[in-house]
Amino acid sequence: MKRRKKRIRKSICIILILVIIIVLILIFKKDKINIELIDNLNIEVNSTITNLDLIKNNNNYKILSKEEVIDTSKLGNKDINILIEHNNKEYNYNININIVDTTIPTIEYKDYLTTTLGNEIDLLENVSVTDNSNEDIDVSIEGDYSFDKVGIYKLYYVAKDSSGNVCKKEFTLEVEDSNMVDNNTDDIIEFTTSKGFSGITKNGVTYIDGVLVVNKTYSLPDDYGNGLTSTTTNAFYKMQAASKLENLNIYLSSGFRSYSTQDRIYNNYVARDGKEAADTYSARPGYSEHQSGLAFDVNQINSTFDDSEEAIWLSNNCYKYGFILRYPKGKEDITGYKYESWHFRYVGVDLATKLYNNGDWITLEEYFGITSSYEE
Ligand SMILES: [Zn+2]
Repeated sequence: MKRRKKRIRKSICIILILVIIIVLILIFKKDKINIELIDNLNIEVNSTITNLDLIKNNNNYKILSKEEVIDTSKLGNKDINILIEHNNKEYNYNININIVDTTIPTIEYKDYLTTTLGNEIDLLENVSVTDNSNEDIDVSIEGDYSFDKVGIYKLYYVAKDSSGNVCKKEFTLEVEDSNMVDNNTDDIIEFTTSKGFSGITKNGVTYIDGVLVVNKTYSLPDDYGNGLTSTTTNAFYKMQAASKLENLNIYLSSGFRSYSTQDRIYNNYVARDGKEAADTYSARPGYSEHQSGLAFDVNQINSTFDDSEEAIWLSNNCYKYGFILRYPKGKEDITGYKYESWHFRYVGVDLATKLYNNGDWITLEEYFGITSSYEE
């Protein structure tokens, strides 16, 4: 009898231990957190990402870390700490990211410079470099030339950032004999538009009522322009600051484009889509408003930008800073271009306010009474 009792007690003991083990396993399993983090990630310098972008599957866990934009302005390694709550326990995650620069700098330059024999000119005068890193990048000149020898020199501008990304652009320096230079006199054409505005084309640049106009009718000379004008950039930064107060992110995507840059872009589109299609969305070289230094594109340069908060805000507010939505919806036949929610042109606050027209944009073509069509 005593023996039997002892055996039963022993069995109960074993069962109890087993139950405790099972319960412990269950608790442990329930507490196990399975989160995927993007670790050892290469992130482009000055890109906009937040700490929460580093969590791949954040749907099941409570993230205790506040969303914070990561400072990506300095190259190198960076540790990001993220706190996650699961079943009333806090988990601390350290994520290591690597901020890198893989973007090639861009050089804005004139691709054809001329001078006369013995007259030295500053070959870097019209050159500017932009890069996504904030560093100052020096431009060097590659190739041999002499201001004391008549000739046409093929040279290169070379810009290299500290990460080793190199941009190399060919340009031509022509040193001519001063006796051979023909002093071509100013070529002036005066006209009146169908709406009675006076226009003048001087050295190939057209002004109507004092406003520089570039469209499919009025072109610019090949060598015109060397960057966005300071009035344009200053007004842009004012507008950008105002948009930031509305929590909007507006940034320049394409500013000044030289004749040669536009030549390359346009001909790429022609090769891809054919001339007729390319003409509806890309300007022929010499006919791009980007060459004027008064126009630029912001954010995504495609229709995905159309319905964004940024596009809506810009369309309703850009005139306050002197900008117009240059190619509005429904005006394709007048401007000669498809609707571009991202392309803005500086004309000054007075004219911009008139063209804004309480939200029903008037085009420059309608306002001045001019056409926008290629001769052939
Ligand atoms: Zn544009």
